[in-house]
Amino acid sequence: MGNSLSAIRGIFFDFIDDPWKHVGEEEKSARFYADGLLVLEEGKVKAFGSFAELSLQFGDVPVTHIPDRIIMPGFIDGHIHLPQTRILGSFGQQLLPWLLKWVFPEEKKYSDPEYAKEGSRQFFENLLQSGTTTCQAFTTHDPVSTEAFFEEATKRNMRVVSGLTGIDRFAPEGSMDTAENFYRDSKRLLEKWHKNGRNLYAITPRFALGCTPEMMKVCERLKNEHPDVYINTHISETPTETRECIEYHHTADYLAAYEKYNLVGPRFTGGHGVWLSDEEFRRLASSGAAISFCPVSNLFLGSGLFRLGKAKDPQHTVKLSFGSDVGGGNRFSMINVLDEAYKTGMCNTTILEGRVDPRSQDLSEAERNKLSPYRAFWSVTLGGAESLYLQDKIGNFDAGKEADFVVLDWKAGPRAMTWSQSRLVEDQPATVEDAANLLFSIMMVGDDRSVDQTWIMGNKLYSRTSGEPALAGTR
Ligand SMILES: [Zn+2]
Repeated sequence: MGNSLSAIRGIFFDFIDDPWKHVGEEEKSARFYADGLLVLEEGKVKAFGSFAELSLQFGDVPVTHIPDRIIMPGFIDGHIHLPQTRILGSFGQQLLPWLLKWVFPEEKKYSDPEYAKEGSRQFFENLLQSGTTTCQAFTTHDPVSTEAFFEEATKRNMRVVSGLTGIDRFAPEGSMDTAENFYRDSKRLLEKWHKNGRNLYAITPRFALGCTPEMMKVCERLKNEHPDVYINTHISETPTETRECIEYHHTADYLAAYEKYNLVGPRFTGGHGVWLSDEEFRRLASSGAAISFCPVSNLFLGSGLFRLGKAKDPQHTVKLSFGSDVGGGNRFSMINVLDEAYKTGMCNTTILEGRVDPRSQDLSEAERNKLSPYRAFWSVTLGGAESLYLQDKIGNFDAGKEADFVVLDWKAGPRAMTWSQSRLVEDQPATVEDAANLLFSIMMVGDDRSVDQTWIMGNKLYSRTSGEPALAGTR
């Protein structure tokens, strides 16, 4: 046995399949070990299984025991804005005026390298404190912020997706750049950062309404020249934005504005998709593209209720990540995202079940809106990984995957969390149902205090109980 092996012993919960495919028996999508062992080698999973079984094979490997916690794959945030870290909770506007009043003035500050570096450091510390180990992020129109993002991600060895954010209309002067400059800077950044360590690059047209046809054309050109990079953008967040986009780009719907430039397909993510038509859902599904569902933001900005049950239609299932959309979302924590996602689903369920005209009822779509703990935690782990085509690298504890994980404390957080524990027969979760019930309590009652530790590639980067700052010593 090589000396490079180490192991974690504890209670483990991860996923092997999409729980929406197992209606009525969702536990079949999950894997649970009341006493499990995760064997690590050079930051990756060497073996995963029950302690009783694996300890025979790996008896001489040093073991770190983490008792009284649920250990899960790290959370994946599919849609977040680095330069909005410091404007959380800005009052009183819907999307378009909110961008003009709060967002663009703050993002401009990220052209200063010191400000961008400090903002990026705070951004990643917030992610780790929230148990988020992977994100797909927007930066600003200025390469300074994109460089700062990748530099801070690299220091923490995190698997991230990001890119220079392209905008050449809609925003005030000083918050935009030309298509020509965007092409030049994107190409340089892409060649420097894509697949450099764990970094991945996304061509990032901010949103179709903020992009001229020239900007869209250079995005298409970049994608043709570098077919393995990502496309990250926004789509159909509000009715006003959707209407204006269709009018500006002369297309039948919002998605068609991206299709026109051949941007939609695998590794495309559109944030929000609240106002997508049934037809757009079908085209997204057949293309292999993804939507990032951002319920905290959709409720904070009042953008609307994403039709989760429509996206998960078994006839045309759209790949989904869940996103915080900080600062449109007022919380970094994916636990809070699950809380609001659950409530969004419940409202949509009522709308579908409660149609006064029974011809408008759709009980199966209504059921698919219900965010069980299986559906919820799959969506922020393996489901999110699949939406980014990263399921061979992250998302669960299969051998060979990168060992990013979060250690959840079901007793931490508000005092009310202790009630969830009282529902257990023993003082520990003994079955997959026990664990799922605890996870549901965490997502509805807990918050980032439920995150006890966050590990990246087998290294502990955050610990709540010891008060360790994320990545001590790099300030
Ligand atoms: Zn956004």
